Amino acid sequence: MRIPKAIQNTVEAFERLPGVGPKSAQRLTYYLLHVPQGELDKFAMAVQNLRKDTIICSECLLIGETDPCSICTDEQRDDSLLCVVEQPLDVLALEKSGKFKGIYHVLHGKIDPLNNIGPEEIYIPQLISRLQKGTSYLGKPIKEVILATNPTMEGEATAMYLAKQIKSKNLGIKVSRIGRGLPTGADLEYADSTTLDQAMNGRSEY
Ligand SMILES: [Zn+2]
Repeated sequence: MRIPKAIQNTVEAFERLPGVGPKSAQRLTYYLLHVPQGELDKFAMAVQNLRKDTIICSECLLIGETDPCSICTDEQRDDSLLCVVEQPLDVLALEKSGKFKGIYHVLHGKIDPLNNIGPEEIYIPQLISRLQKGTSYLGKPIKEVILATNPTMEGEATAMYLAKQIKSKNLGIKVSRIGRGLPTGADLEYADSTTLDQAMNGRSEY
């Protein structure tokens, strides 16, 4: 039996997604065959507009609807605290916990020599130049950088590299690392709000 091309194409599209194997891709595709056409159109439209209707903030590299983003332009935030994270999802997790009121810098990755990802491949140069400028988008001084990369081997190595880089520039900006509470090897993204609060409060200076 020949599998219809439309089905094949959809299966292949799902297979390209992270964490989706051939079996799941098939199951999802056959599930979609039972969904009303109107729902499918909405689904397709959402995917189609995903990149078109979002923009990366040229200040903090967060993905939002405006550049600069709504966090960088928020007068109510404490711009003296800048939190460095690996991914936009980490910002969502911290925002959900609601205790951190500072600003962010999203690296969009971590230093990972085994996969040929060095400091230049992620947004480290942009972070350094922000800190050298010394002020936020709203012109307020940045006083502390909180390194909130994941407590994994690569995340720790990235934090260590950043601490060394920032300190060598003698910018008079405090450098700290989020504290215990986060289990080793865990991702920030999956931590609950209480754990995140504890990690943020328990940060220690490098
Ligand atoms: Zn921003």
